Amino acid sequence: MSGRLAVIGLGPGDARWLTPEAEAALTAADALFGYGPYLDRIPHRAGQTRHVSDNREEAARACAALEHAATGAHAALVSGGDPGVFAMAAAVCGEIEAGPDAWRELDVTVVPGITAMLAVAARAGAPLGHDFCAISLSDNLKPWSLIERRLDAASQAGFVIALYNPVSKARPWQLAAALDRLRKHLPSATPIVFGRAVGRPDERVQVTTLEKAEASAADMATLLIIGSAETRIVPRGGLPPLVYTPRAARSVSA
Ligand code: SAH
Repeated sequence: MSGRLAVIGLGPGDARWLTPEAEAALTAADALFGYGPYLDRIPHRAGQTRHVSDNREEAARACAALEHAATGAHAALVSGGDPGVFAMAAAVCGEIEAGPDAWRELDVTVVPGITAMLAVAARAGAPLGHDFCAISLSDNLKPWSLIERRLDAASQAGFVIALYNPVSKARPWQLAAALDRLRKHLPSATPIVFGRAVGRPDERVQVTTLEKAEASAADMATLLIIGSAETRIVPRGGLPPLVYTPRAARSVSA
């Protein structure tokens, strides 16, 4: 079977953060599949079709792209950031595992992209300089009790935490609950970075502390980096502060 599917990461938004490999894979495709706002970032090319889907239809979108590839075509499925981080690559792998045998013969490539936590971290300094983890706050695909357990474990173990999907229209209270949970384990002065729409014209990066952090400062385009007890804020006159986590740690001090 000659069909091909490229699962492509577009990065967080700035066109300069699209890798040359992703650019080449987008050009080579004869059909683009993805959520509308991501497809909107890609220039139209003659002869290339577009298949826009709703953000919540992950499985259907993965199947549509696989079905197209299985006709011998060259499909591209796009994600913001990296396609393997809370995005389409896992949905594609799941559909291949569950789907017809022919899908296992497709030439499937995952093209990495800069994930949001790296872009936000770079804007703030080096908050991910020591051990860290990433947690999606969305309880659409897992129970809230599991998220609470992971927040407890990660903060108690001294990990810096990148929080993806902090809020959505259907999930208005979760971030405030998560911050309250973290306050049980971390010092009130723990640095927190709110990075919103980083790499896009409406970018906003705010540095605060766990004590002062307000859930209302985040929206769907925001990623939070919750420091560990080791994370530091370096104030600079007239310039934004630098937030960093030193490379060395002594013991778990949360
Ligand atoms: N695959 C994406 C993540 C998808 S989950 C990636 O690797 O980045 C969607 C979440 O990612 C958003 O709710 C937000 O938390 C974060 N996000 C995506 N783009 C962002 C950006 N430009 N700035 C800040 N956070 C972003």
